[in-house]
Amino acid sequence: MDTVVACSTPFGSSALSVVRVSGPKTKSFVDSLQKKTKKIKHNTPFLSSFLDKDGVVFDEGIINVFFGPNSYTGEDLAEISCHGNPIIVDQLISLACDFGCRTADPGEFTKRAYLNGKLDIAQAESVASLISSRSLEGAKITYKNLGGKLSANISSSKKTLVSLVGEIEFNLDISEEDLQPNLFTKSSKKILLLKNKMDEALEGFKKTNILNVGANVVIAGPTNAGKSTLFNLFLEEERAIISKTPGTTRDVLQDTINLEGMPVILKDTAGIRKTKDKIEKAGIHKTQKELFSADLVLFLGQRPKKTDITANYIYIFNKSDIKSPASDKYDIKISALKGKNIKALKRLIIKKLSQKSSVTSFVLTSKRQVENIKLSKKHMEKALSGLSKETSLELVVEDLNSSIFYLDKITKKTTREDILNSIFSSFCVGK
Ligand code: GDP
Repeated sequence: MDTVVACSTPFGSSALSVVRVSGPKTKSFVDSLQKKTKKIKHNTPFLSSFLDKDGVVFDEGIINVFFGPNSYTGEDLAEISCHGNPIIVDQLISLACDFGCRTADPGEFTKRAYLNGKLDIAQAESVASLISSRSLEGAKITYKNLGGKLSANISSSKKTLVSLVGEIEFNLDISEEDLQPNLFTKSSKKILLLKNKMDEALEGFKKTNILNVGANVVIAGPTNAGKSTLFNLFLEEERAIISKTPGTTRDVLQDTINLEGMPVILKDTAGIRKTKDKIEKAGIHKTQKELFSADLVLFLGQRPKKTDITANYIYIFNKSDIKSPASDKYDIKISALKGKNIKALKRLIIKKLSQKSSVTSFVLTSKRQVENIKLSKKHMEKALSGLSKETSLELVVEDLNSSIFYLDKITKKTTREDILNSIFSSFCVGK
């Protein structure tokens, strides 16, 4: 492997920046940077001057070198803290490149950690999610996965499947009369429990996503109801165009706000009404799509008589400064223009979103994990249906193996060896 270098802190001026170097040339580069004035020891930070090729000092800072494999990447790794000036950072990086390093690709340090067996892929994904998390709650949950919580969950589910495969394969080799009693019902029960766990994980993903990425909150309702006024009030700035002319908002506007620690992606949509205007029609179509995928809809209008999707709707009566609602088909009365009752509305939003973000123990942090869980679950369902019909056990085994295959993709590969070990470890001594 070659040696890579990159600045690990954001670009721009700041008190400090950290440049990271990882790979076989790390120690010799650090030696050249400080002209061997200090002997490098593992994880022993030291203050040093930084010297350019001509031996001229251009900055000083703390250097910490970790000797592989006891480092984040599993290779020799240096963290060089310098003053947070982009020119100094550039100088350090170009010196490293002149020394034979190359600039790292995005995520390359973590990729190296994965390739060197320091993290499994699910943990590596947690690193990405932890960095981009938009709430403290989300970061806390993700951090647990970084410590291996998800991997442990996957591994215990896999263990159950592997031992089931072992058990069924054992029964495949013996005559039908000798089949273990209740094999079908016992196996079905175990698979069903696992399948429920997968459902819980998938449901949990939506919740963590709300905490990490932000809840999708859509403001909708008829034209002229005050949607853009409410949107702007939340943003506390004039973003959307407010007008008395119906149909002004034609595209979906969005911005992220923070409601008491909860990240919210707030969207202002086109008012829904019958129109011949092509552009407005396209806007209304977009609104309908947004409503479908919203975590919560702030609907400026009354609750329809018959509806089964009220759970994620808040029905709002707006313009309470000039009129009163004629019906009780609203959850709350506000005035977006006067800012009346907005605190209560925010509380209601948080209450609704909190119900959606109470997190389960099996937390997924990436779409890739979700897709693999879905596929694994699909094969569990197929195995369950095979068992209920008492069809060929070979097919059930095949589905269970596919289910394991997709769980494996989340963390790492199960070998045939695991299955063999599981069969023999469940045998009693002497058999
Ligand atoms: P939208 O089409 O639903 O986005 O509605 P707008 O936000 O553009 O508002 C339409 C009109 O209603 C504007 O003239 C706003 O000033 C007015 N409006 C919005 N909210 C209120 C309110 O709470 N009280 C009063 N009196 N007028 C409001």
